[in-house]
Amino acid sequence: MPHPRPRASFPQIFPPAFTPWIVAALATIFLSFPVAALANKHPAPTRQMSFCLFPLEPLGFFDENGKAQGFYPDLIRKIAEQESWKPVFVASTFGDCMEGLQRGEYDFMATIAYSEERARHISYSREPVLTIWGQLYIRPGSRITTPADLEGKKIGVMRKDINGRNFKELLRRFGISCEFSEFPTHEEIFRAVHDKRLDAGVAPQHYGLRHANDFNLVGSSIIFSPFPIYFAAPKDRHPEELRRIDSYIKLWKKSANSYYYQRLAYWMGGAGLKKEAIPAWIWLTIAVIAAIAALLVLFNRFLRREVARQTKELFERERQYRELVQNVDSVILRWNTKGEVVFLNTFGQKLFGYTEEEIIGKHVVGTIVAETDQAGRDLKQMIDNILRNPDAYRSNENENICKDGRRVYIQWRNVAITNDNGGFDEILSVGIDITEKKQLERELVQAQKMEAVGTLAGGIAHDFNNILSSIFGFTELAQLKTEDPALKEDLDQVMQAAVRARDLVQQILAFSRKSDQDKAPLKVALQVKEALKLLRASIPTTIDIQHNIVSQAKVMANPTQIHQIIMNLCTNAYHAMEAEGGTLFVSLLDAEGPPPADDTGAGRLPPGEYVVLEVRDTGVGMDELTMARIFDPYFTTKEQGRGTGMGLAVVHGIVNSMNGVIAVDSEPGKGTVFTIHLPVVKSTVALPDKGNESDDEPPPGQGEHIVLVDDEEKIRRLHTTFLTDAGYRVTSCPDGQEAFEALRKKERCDLLITDIAMPQMSGKALAAEARKLYPNMPIIMCTGYNDVINRAEAARLGVTAYVEKPISRRALLRKVHEVLRAGLEN
Ligand code: ADP
Ligand code: MG
Repeated sequence: MPHPRPRASFPQIFPPAFTPWIVAALATIFLSFPVAALANKHPAPTRQMSFCLFPLEPLGFFDENGKAQGFYPDLIRKIAEQESWKPVFVASTFGDCMEGLQRGEYDFMATIAYSEERARHISYSREPVLTIWGQLYIRPGSRITTPADLEGKKIGVMRKDINGRNFKELLRRFGISCEFSEFPTHEEIFRAVHDKRLDAGVAPQHYGLRHANDFNLVGSSIIFSPFPIYFAAPKDRHPEELRRIDSYIKLWKKSANSYYYQRLAYWMGGAGLKKEAIPAWIWLTIAVIAAIAALLVLFNRFLRREVARQTKELFERERQYRELVQNVDSVILRWNTKGEVVFLNTFGQKLFGYTEEEIIGKHVVGTIVAETDQAGRDLKQMIDNILRNPDAYRSNENENICKDGRRVYIQWRNVAITNDNGGFDEILSVGIDITEKKQLERELVQAQKMEAVGTLAGGIAHDFNNILSSIFGFTELAQLKTEDPALKEDLDQVMQAAVRARDLVQQILAFSRKSDQDKAPLKVALQVKEALKLLRASIPTTIDIQHNIVSQAKVMANPTQIHQIIMNLCTNAYHAMEAEGGTLFVSLLDAEGPPPADDTGAGRLPPGEYVVLEVRDTGVGMDELTMARIFDPYFTTKEQGRGTGMGLAVVHGIVNSMNGVIAVDSEPGKGTVFTIHLPVVKSTVALPDKGNESDDEPPPGQGEHIVLVDDEEKIRRLHTTFLTDAGYRVTSCPDGQEAFEALRKKERCDLLITDIAMPQMSGKALAAEARKLYPNMPIIMCTGYNDVINRAEAARLGVTAYVEKPISRRALLRKVHEVLRAGLEN
């Protein structure tokens, strides 16, 4: 019996390397028949039925193990299982099957088309199992596209195949004559076409779809005559079985999920193809190669796109980094071991005022680093040190200089960029501009210093005032007691010195801003001229004094303060020119706009109208180190006894309290200029006359009884003398308690004069008690510097008047007379 082994050549086609693949494929094939495997497990059926099967994949064929496979065998097995048949599949060709069936050698034949001719010799089932199309198969590149192209061509058909018969009929109807030859199997037809023994071959489409490729053939566009195929049995045999087969197929066709459709989908769909070992491998190989090729193409395209994308991304990132480095709010500087700038970011260029061309390649000293800073630190040395040992300067704060000479303060972080040898060729320095922070720090330090000095000065002034009171008092007493003109003159000198001392105390208090001197709109020009007159008298003529007083504007000021400014600045100028002589030049001008920044760190003032006082000298000048400290209280370069170091501190304090700014410009040997801007005030209100001390002797007393309290023995003694000498009766007490006793005991008291700060009982407490005893008695309170008392409080305590120490004899007597007379009038 011929056994179709179309894959007999398979071991020769594939090298041994493929063997594992084949095993895998076989395993796949085996596993793809779970249904068949299940069917075999069933108990042996009773009736044996033979089925003749010819190769027509995927409808029916024998696999390499000789097992019947395909759509028909599956259906037959399933029906046999239900019907208790035992199907036996017999392999043959189509023609042999037909003939064997007619002779009654087989019980059934599967896959057969209906024809009336055949129906005379065999019996058919009635329900079509499938519909089959015939197709003409050709070699690729063949010119056959329409039936007309077939004239005179050699065409192969399978013996007894209804496709062949249909095709012959078709050509006959078209009137085309060809040379037909018959073959036992479709496979042989395909081989003949492949070997060019035929021009084309007829085969059912199902078969062609699977096997044309095995012979390197292609389906032509000539597709024809669909026909149904059935089961068949020898004539008039097995009618019942054929009906059973029909009823199964009919039933299955009704439901989409039936076994029929499942197996149809399996064999006609992708799954059915899997069982074909060789084509599957050819396909697989081609598919793998094609897939690899496609993948390579895709991969290549992907790579190109990826490279493009990453390049763009890299570029973008690089741009972002560049922008970050260039515009970050820090200086980024790279410089080499020679000290030359290699890179300076945009921020740094802007800060220092250099363009890239101007700075790259230049040494840092001489460009962004000055040889010394303003405090005299050797920066050149520092740079050398950094280059020698950057590690020691990881973090460093120093002054830098800009192209325009501006000094900035930078906080640097320095890192050596190490090379392959472990050394370094460059240093990376990142700097933050802390100029403003430094300025604020300086201001804070200055403010704190001022505060401390103010407190200290206040304390000293208090004690000093007490001493001055004694000096004033006793000098006046001595003057009253003597008629000797020479002695009187000496005492005048003492008085003058005491006045100067009192002025100094006033200055200290002005500086400490605790003495709130009255301010009013004041024409500065008048004060300046008056002060200059005084100066001319006290400055030697080796010094030429010139002035240009133009401004007639007024500022909010106290005349004494303006006087102090002029005197202090001009005295300094005089000292600076004392040795060599020179010119002192004072000018007072009007200016509009924003004044320059204050040199003492007080910040900027808004634009507006200002009076500009300038004091210029041609003296010794100052270096930067001195200039940085001149406004510090007690800073002096003068010998002991000559300078107090308070002059400029006081000037600064006053200017500050007037909302002005002071600036200094000086160079050693070239002289000095102080410039003060004071804001102009528009008001026309005049400074009230404080009433100068008149030289008239106050009227004497009438024996009025005065209780006087002061814990300072000298002052108590002095004031007692003043008062008794002037005709008053005085009870003097060293403290509040004793005074209170005296007030209580004495039959009559006309006036109480009391100090404020006293041990045991304060002046305030005493005043309150005294007021209880003598509701109408006037009270005079003497206030020292430290005494905090305001008018409201004084009024509440019932104090009639208060006087500031040190008080002169006349002022005291005048005040006493004043309050006593007022008391009488009341
Ligand atoms: P003093 O005059 O008592 O020393 P100042 O506060 O007035 O104190 O001045 C402080 C220092 O400033 C002076 O010791 C001096 O060194 C310097 N100075 C002030 N004015 C001038 C000037 N016109 N020329 C040179 N140096 C000056
Ligand atoms: Mg001075």
